[in-house]
Amino acid sequence: MDISPATLKAALIDSDAVFNNSHDAIIAMDSASTIVFTNDAALAMFGYAAAADLIGTRIEGLMNERHALRHAGFVARHLQGDSTPMMNNLRRIRAKRASGELFPIDINVFHIDIKKTRYYFGFIRDMSAVEEKEAQLKSIAYFDVTTELPNANSFRDFLIYLYQEDMKDDYVIAVIGVHNMKNINATYGFEVGDAVIQVVGRRLKSAMRDAAFFGRMVGNQFVAAHRLQPERTVDGHLAEIRDRAAEVGDAPIKIGDVQVRAHFTIGAITIPKLAETADLVTKHAEIAYGDAKRIAPQNVHHLSQSRLDALSFSASLTHKLVDAIRNEEFHLVLQPKVDIGASRVTGGEALLRWRRPTGEPIGPDVFVPAAENAGLIADIGRFVFIESCALLRRGATRSLGPLKIAINASPHQLADPRFIDFVEATFADSGVDPASAEFEVTETAVAAFPERVVAGLNRLRAMGASVALDDFGTGHSSLTMLHDLPIDRVKLDRAFMANLGQSVRFEKLVENSVRMMRDMGYAVTVEGVETRDVHDFLLALGVDEAQGYFYARPLSPDAFWDFELAI
Ligand code: C2E
Ligand code: CA
Ligand code: CA
Repeated sequence: MDISPATLKAALIDSDAVFNNSHDAIIAMDSASTIVFTNDAALAMFGYAAAADLIGTRIEGLMNERHALRHAGFVARHLQGDSTPMMNNLRRIRAKRASGELFPIDINVFHIDIKKTRYYFGFIRDMSAVEEKEAQLKSIAYFDVTTELPNANSFRDFLIYLYQEDMKDDYVIAVIGVHNMKNINATYGFEVGDAVIQVVGRRLKSAMRDAAFFGRMVGNQFVAAHRLQPERTVDGHLAEIRDRAAEVGDAPIKIGDVQVRAHFTIGAITIPKLAETADLVTKHAEIAYGDAKRIAPQNVHHLSQSRLDALSFSASLTHKLVDAIRNEEFHLVLQPKVDIGASRVTGGEALLRWRRPTGEPIGPDVFVPAAENAGLIADIGRFVFIESCALLRRGATRSLGPLKIAINASPHQLADPRFIDFVEATFADSGVDPASAEFEVTETAVAAFPERVVAGLNRLRAMGASVALDDFGTGHSSLTMLHDLPIDRVKLDRAFMANLGQSVRFEKLVENSVRMMRDMGYAVTVEGVETRDVHDFLLALGVDEAQGYFYARPLSPDAFWDFELAI
């Protein structure tokens, strides 16, 4: 059976179904603002029992007071032919229920002329549930669920507000971290951990009640912003924040059967001095907190401008390093190593040089750590190794005798099996005898990833290469660690030599170190020999190998091959 849409529409209107099934309230009034029609939804929404309660009353009865007062004016304007906000526009306003309660509605009003009389129809939707949901979402977005404290979003808004108000005062921003949170979580589980965070948050909030802002950043970190009082120093403020936090920490926290104490580490910055924009505040405060954890655990640490300068320097260095690898701006120099007993060059240490296209040289002391931090050391390390192999091949063709090249390797390289694989493959491809390569590794390198570095060193030695422990005496090496390391040689750091002439005790230190290394079966190289006096001293000691400006500075490969020792 076919039925036309027009017929269906007419039937629908006739049946009242549209009105009585609509979720929207529909209310009609005449041009004198008297209600002439309501549907069921309108009665339910506004809280009236029967249509008769509304029909014949004025529409203002359903409006909030402010609207009710202005209603007559709008109607007059509309009747003059002017446009008004509500006609043919969807608007969000507050309406009034029979109980007097105000609630949000979306309303759209249009008019129809029936028998030359104008009637106004409002389609009205109750938005209370929607607004409630929105508010809830908003509060989750701005408040931390665990502590009910303002969260990082709130902090951001607070900062944006401060920075927009062209800040007249200085503020101290303190990131207050629960130092032993990891421990608490590991010992008692996350549930207790969360409960501890709740208690700590509550107590810190009250301890920092004069803060312009206090909230939870992430995890174990809270943040407080204090306006700096002009008559007080930053240090004074920080000491007070630290002491108040310490007081919070002194009070035990009881969660069920568990009793713990919180210890706090605090990183701080002063703004706007140490952060030009709101975005930088969080970034720099996090740096301050990271530094505090290292430098001042369970204490307070304020970030310095020079630390920020150094960071931005290394950031720009990182950019330049990426270019440098691409543009092949690196080259190697070789510093001769000398068998002082036999007055013979035994080989050279490969030292990396970087000359920027501008001609400016940058020292490895500066760029090697930057490359390590930026994850660029692997590429650079491969370059150093390939070049060293090329130099060894050139040395072999010049038949200078069995010269060794010492290659500095960073912890990341040695801990990475892919680098060791690469070394193995390169030895095989180039035909270079692994016995002519010595890898230098520092104590701190070993300490960084002990097992993995040791595994790497073992593989290198299994290939036939040797390993030297570099800069010995500068780190915190224990003799036990030395005993367990797979090494062939120890290089005594040049700091010892610099101090040598100054006291007999230093002479004894060097003497005994050299003897002990030898007794443990290690070859010994002494670095940083700058004077004949030191040379004579080492010769008398029976040190086999030495290196330093006294014999030769690092040399270009050509100069290295032509180098003749004169002592
Ligand atoms: P290092 O391994 O201790 O290298 C010895 C450093 O002492 C070199 O500085 C060398 O020029 C310097 N030196 C040599 N003899 C003397 C002396 O008699 N007196 C003084 N005062 N210094 C002397 P350089 O070339 O600036 O290298 C600094 C550091 O950079 C190296 O210390 C090493 O840790 C790192 N490095 C250099 N090349 C590489 C490399 O290819 N890879 C890696 N990972 N690190 C490298
Ligand atoms: Ca070295
Ligand atoms: Ca060294």
